[in-house]
Amino acid sequence: MIIFHKSADLLPFLRRSKATGNRIGFVPTMGALHQGHLNLVEAARKSCNLVVVSIFVNPTQFNDPNDFARYPTPLAKDLDLLLAQGCHVLYLPTTADIYPLGLQHLPQYQLGYLDTILEAQYRPGHFQGVCQVVDRLLQAVAPTTLFLGQKDLQQCRVIARMLEQTPHGQTTQLTIINTVRESDGLAMSSRNMHLSAEGRKKAVAIYEALQMLQQKLHTGAVDWLLQEAETYLRAAGLTPEYVCIADAVSLQPCTEWDGKQPLVALIAAYLEGVRLIDNMLLTTN
Ligand code: AMP
Repeated sequence: MIIFHKSADLLPFLRRSKATGNRIGFVPTMGALHQGHLNLVEAARKSCNLVVVSIFVNPTQFNDPNDFARYPTPLAKDLDLLLAQGCHVLYLPTTADIYPLGLQHLPQYQLGYLDTILEAQYRPGHFQGVCQVVDRLLQAVAPTTLFLGQKDLQQCRVIARMLEQTPHGQTTQLTIINTVRESDGLAMSSRNMHLSAEGRKKAVAIYEALQMLQQKLHTGAVDWLLQEAETYLRAAGLTPEYVCIADAVSLQPCTEWDGKQPLVALIAAYLEGVRLIDNMLLTTN
């Protein structure tokens, strides 16, 4: 595995590799890697010849400074995991390499309603920050395929929109990989490590609430069901920020279901001061 710290070194290396016909798969991460990240690497290995992973905790996407300050950075462990997974290139940039002109006056993206609902409503500026970093990373890597996790479904939709608005859309394909879960169903997340042993057990309520939404969904109004899921989360000791059933593609909230529209259930909830998110595509029977 080759480690690059500067885009000025990385880009020519990758250009040469592409010129020999290699397909470049790119997995952007913030580190503290787990099996969810590693599945993205695995998917990239299967469909591309050269796999690039980036680790960069992007300051511009944190609306909560405490969340940024305590974001885990176990770099030595991450390196071992990437080596074992067969990653070819690790891009480990400094903030100055990503934002050479500083953190002021960064580009803004036209994300429409995606920048007003769900995550965007509770984390103002978050998706502008996500687009700023992914746009820069794509400039540095110019991948054939970008691999993202469904765990952050709204982020996937946002980045798809950003790709449409930038030249990357012409050259980079987006592939979304299923959420990897712990054995009890909790979605793997770098933030899970902030939970106490007791909190870790309670956190599974998010997955259970999503399953409940899946099982009880029927045609007509969905509000009663959202209320039920919220009550379930509160009873389990979590503080829900949102519980939503939305169109699976546009993420527009659904209030009345016609029995056909593909839907997704999305939850954000706090537990022991940790903000957890998850979602589940709702299958129609
Ligand atoms: P992060 O390091 O949290 O920014 O995540 C980097 C990438 O890994 C994003 O595309 C995430 O959606 C994806 N990811 C995070 N957790 C999971 C998971 N449990 N399963 C699948 N992908 C994930």
